[in-house]
Amino acid sequence: MVTTHNLGFPRIGPHRELKHALESFWKGSSTAEALEQVAADLRQQNWQSQSHLNYTPVGDFSLYDHVLDMSVTLGNIPARIHQLDGSEQDAYFRLARGRSPSDTCQCCTAAGEMTKWLDTNYHYIVPEFDAQTTFRLNAARLIKQVQEAISQGVTAKPVIIGPVSYLWLGKSKDDTSRLALLDQLLPVYSQLLNQLHELGIKWVQIDEPALVTELESGWRHAFHLAYHHLKSSPVSLLLTTYFGQLQENLQLACELPVQGLHVDAIRARDEVHKVIDWLPQHKVLSLGIIDGRNIWKNDLNRTLDWLEPIYARLQKRLWIAPSCSLLHVPVDLASETKLDAEITSWLSFAIQKLTELDVIAQALNHGRESVAETLNDNQQAIDRKHRSARVHNPAVKQALSNINDSMSQRQSAYPERARIQKDLLNLPKFPTTTIGSFPQTQEIRQTRALYKQGKLSEDDYRQRIKAEIKVCVDQQEQINLDVLVHGEPERNDMVEYFGEQLSGYAFSDFGWVQSYGSRCVKPPIIYGDITREKPMTVDWIKYAQSLTHKPMKGMLTGPVTILNWSFVRDDQPRDLTCKQIALAVRAEVQDLETAGVGIIQIDEAALREGLPLRRGQWQTYLDWAISAFCLSANGVSDQTQIHTHMCYSEFNDIMPAIAKMDADVITIETSRSDMELLDAFDEFSYPNEIGPGVYDIHSPNICSEDQVVDLLRKAAKSIPPERLWVNPDCGLKTRSWDEVTPALANMVRAAKKLRAES
Ligand code: GLN
Ligand code: ZN
Repeated sequence: MVTTHNLGFPRIGPHRELKHALESFWKGSSTAEALEQVAADLRQQNWQSQSHLNYTPVGDFSLYDHVLDMSVTLGNIPARIHQLDGSEQDAYFRLARGRSPSDTCQCCTAAGEMTKWLDTNYHYIVPEFDAQTTFRLNAARLIKQVQEAISQGVTAKPVIIGPVSYLWLGKSKDDTSRLALLDQLLPVYSQLLNQLHELGIKWVQIDEPALVTELESGWRHAFHLAYHHLKSSPVSLLLTTYFGQLQENLQLACELPVQGLHVDAIRARDEVHKVIDWLPQHKVLSLGIIDGRNIWKNDLNRTLDWLEPIYARLQKRLWIAPSCSLLHVPVDLASETKLDAEITSWLSFAIQKLTELDVIAQALNHGRESVAETLNDNQQAIDRKHRSARVHNPAVKQALSNINDSMSQRQSAYPERARIQKDLLNLPKFPTTTIGSFPQTQEIRQTRALYKQGKLSEDDYRQRIKAEIKVCVDQQEQINLDVLVHGEPERNDMVEYFGEQLSGYAFSDFGWVQSYGSRCVKPPIIYGDITREKPMTVDWIKYAQSLTHKPMKGMLTGPVTILNWSFVRDDQPRDLTCKQIALAVRAEVQDLETAGVGIIQIDEAALREGLPLRRGQWQTYLDWAISAFCLSANGVSDQTQIHTHMCYSEFNDIMPAIAKMDADVITIETSRSDMELLDAFDEFSYPNEIGPGVYDIHSPNICSEDQVVDLLRKAAKSIPPERLWVNPDCGLKTRSWDEVTPALANMVRAAKKLRAES
């Protein structure tokens, strides 16, 4: 018999119950007990949904983040948090979000740093290490959940992060070496495993995602040390990897002294036979055969064609599971009542994925005949999708085949364009602008919501949005900015807005995925060839331009960001889908130009997010991503000034690729890192114009004129002043007008001061 299990289940709940409970608790509207009750109910519900599996993950549930939970379990809470009064839960939420519900002030910014969980859009709280770091087991949370599961009849497989990946995911706050902490850390893991054994646990899932990345020898050695230390533990360990190939770590992963290994058989399918060859005969091999990173139905017959011979070889040594934790997909497709029936028939969310797993297990155990009907239904859905006219649009394929290199190149090189644009735009030195959005007030949100619900006529909606655009333009004129924007009141999200107008896209109602803490995103679904039916932004921008004599900047989201923030079809390579989006954006850029919009910004906020886990694969990604951007942006005349925007400060390593985008102006986040980013410009001389953010929009603080002047002076040391723009870090949509107006006014005054001096 094959063994089935799961690596992790979404915690937010089918209708984001956890989000609502957390936010109500943080606001002080409900008690800690009420929060705990919602959490316990969700766990119970999740376990019930998985009760057909042989092993169910326990401890994957978290009130905020599983890496933070691991820090608590290991007693690794930074001293600055310890020093504050309050309960353990206060400490937990302080580290998660800077304050606990019992803190009345907002001054104690104790929050831990947050960063992306490998190549996902989930963010974890980074473990901190320094010379004072010690570890002490605090297994209360995990033990309670294991007991809770056992009492509900669940065959629990606790999930923990392995010691090497725990250190690898963290950050040293001084010059303490993370690896030097391993010796101290291992006994705590041993204790934890012993305690789990005492509860009757047989298998523990120990996640070591670091194994799918390029590791220096010290880290590889740490794996040997760690697992030799844990060898004597009384529970069986399932060493778990996901999100990619093991490559040069394959042999290491196979040889570590544990009882089982899980590999991602979606992303690392090509390696599986090699793993089988290397894996000692006494070990279990768990194959992640259902994609935990996407929402498409599994092609069950195809999976079985591949898996049956493996099962014949491994027999009861074979376990099967989703490729990774299901944290990265929505909970239940059954909640989607409004989604088109045909598209729904192609999809599979967490609950459906586990049913697929079950069917595969049945087929392996009792033959495909035993599930013939289900397999047949699945086959039909897969075939219908392959053939569907909604997926394949010949006109798009034709347009793609007409792409040639010259389409991705500007007519002249930057210096020539710059001269032309300078004469045309006549901007002062240190031109001031913003990144696009202006405060999204309650009223704007309501206008959009009413319109969406059909409670506001098209005419009324347009009038209200226009009125809001006018407010934004008037404000910007008063503040005396040089390049204005329309403010984006019609957009609730920079990807969804475009997705809704492109064909080939579908939208779920409850397809929420946790991004961090209580924050969830609902990625739109790209199911077919992408086309733009009609202009998406031109009317709004034209209207905004009609209100002012100053240049109005058209505002678009770039193809790579649209791709990276969507669930993407898996029947063709991602770069091809990106090219289709690029063509749609290109048409919009050209329509804006024709409408007389002389400056167009194409945001690529998520370009960096798409970087593969292994550096060795970066170049391939960057090549197609940058060429998609160029295809979208460069079909304009020399007169038109193209801007792009990115909001992250780790830049140095992709600078040459960014330069290849050849945008006339690039605006970037910098003020939080105190212009640290500028080092990148010292090392690599970026050839075009740059607007390093001088106003940190993530903070409610109003930047002063002097602060901005200081930052600009710093910037002018690395960037030639004649190529320096003055702008905030990012869009202003989360701020309020009473923060934005004075801050921008100070920014403009600072620019004027520099002009006067130069
Ligand atoms: N133009 C967008 C805005 O201002 C950019 C958002 C982003 O970079 N995340 O909101
Ligand atoms: Zn941004």
